[in-house]
Amino acid sequence: MANAHAQFEPDEQKAILAQAAAGEKPLCPRDGTPMTRRSIGGGSFGLGYARRREWLICPECRRSLIFDLRRGTRN
Ligand SMILES: [Zn+2]
Repeated sequence: MANAHAQFEPDEQKAILAQAAAGEKPLCPRDGTPMTRRSIGGGSFGLGYARRREWLICPECRRSLIFDLRRGTRN
C-alpha cells in the first residue's frame, strides 16, 4: 500500500457521501474506519456561499474525497 494519494472508487464515494448526507459519521468502505471531517474554506462569513465543503479523510488508508454539503432542502 504505497499509493500516497489513492482515490475511492465511484461506488465507494457514493456510499460515503450518502452516509455524510444522512448526517451519519462516514465509515471508510475499505477498512471500516470512521473518517475525519475537515471543513474547507471555513471562516469566510458574509460571502454568500450557499454551500460549504468538507474534506473526508480516512486516517487508516489515507484515501480522501471532497464532500459538497448543500443547504436549502433541510435546516
Ligand atoms: Zn480507509
